[in-house]
Amino acid sequence: MIIGAIEAGGTKFVCAVGDEQGNIFEKLVIPTESPEITMPKVYDFFQEKNIERMGVGSFGPIDINEKGGTYGQIQRTPKIDWIDFPLAGDIEKNLQVPVVVDTDVNVAALSESRWGNAVDVDTCLYITVGTGIGAGAIVNGGTLTGLSHPEMGHIAVRRHKKDTFAGACPYHKDCLEGMAAGPAIEERWGKAGIELAEDPLVWEVEAYYLAQALVNYIYILSPERIIMGGGVMQQEQLFDMIRENVLEMLNGYVSSPRLTEENINEYIVPPGLTNEAGVKGALGLAIR
Ligand code: ADP
Ligand code: ZN
Repeated sequence: MIIGAIEAGGTKFVCAVGDEQGNIFEKLVIPTESPEITMPKVYDFFQEKNIERMGVGSFGPIDINEKGGTYGQIQRTPKIDWIDFPLAGDIEKNLQVPVVVDTDVNVAALSESRWGNAVDVDTCLYITVGTGIGAGAIVNGGTLTGLSHPEMGHIAVRRHKKDTFAGACPYHKDCLEGMAAGPAIEERWGKAGIELAEDPLVWEVEAYYLAQALVNYIYILSPERIIMGGGVMQQEQLFDMIRENVLEMLNGYVSSPRLTEENINEYIVPPGLTNEAGVKGALGLAIR
């Protein structure tokens, strides 16, 4: 079957034509401007490609509740041109194919579970730490959705004792994203994360917040693997610091052979797929 896939991101739309095995035959990157400018270019690309279905991994918040009347519609977002844009409906109307939409992070989790670092487990979590913090989950082979999609980046965290930063989330100030996303690092320390690589306190604070989040996700979702991606996770020293903090915070409460000193390196891991994870996951979504 020929499938269309779109990774709809805040800076670019990656469009691809592929198949259910995750093969990609053709790809085009289009900058994200307003829907009026971006979408016609998307439709031009897919015209006459004979796609039978379309999978879309989108920035959010987006309504992914199939039971409501606004499935696939973008919700309140800092990208004001896109507020209330009916992404799925507009694609369906213009390309005359069924459209399946999910969040970018759910799609990344799906991609990792099908082709990346979580192929051997049924339940996994993917978290991105970048401009924002978001997480998606695969539970028993499917993406986790409900009311709409989870908002795991906005959970409450306990403050690090050396940290006096007020927090950068416009909704909650000192939630996880407000304390640990890239912009929070930059605002707290006065420099972007990449320039702070040599400052141990920066990463001690960062690892403390991220580890708390993972511990909560472990308690609530019981994932068999956690994959951490996004710009901030380019600081590879974070992985060991987070692993250590997670074990310490769990304090042996969840007993699993995956959660031991010996095995935690294979439990909290970087992504296995790099630049095609988004579109590949969107292909996977369309054949769900
Ligand atoms: P986005 O979340 O917008 O898709 P990224 O995942 O690249 O994009 O995240 C961007 C954020 O990650 C920025 O706040 C940036 O400062 C931070 N970042 C990017 N690269 C690094 C790095 N090597 N070290 C630390 N922080 C980084
Ligand atoms: Zn928040």
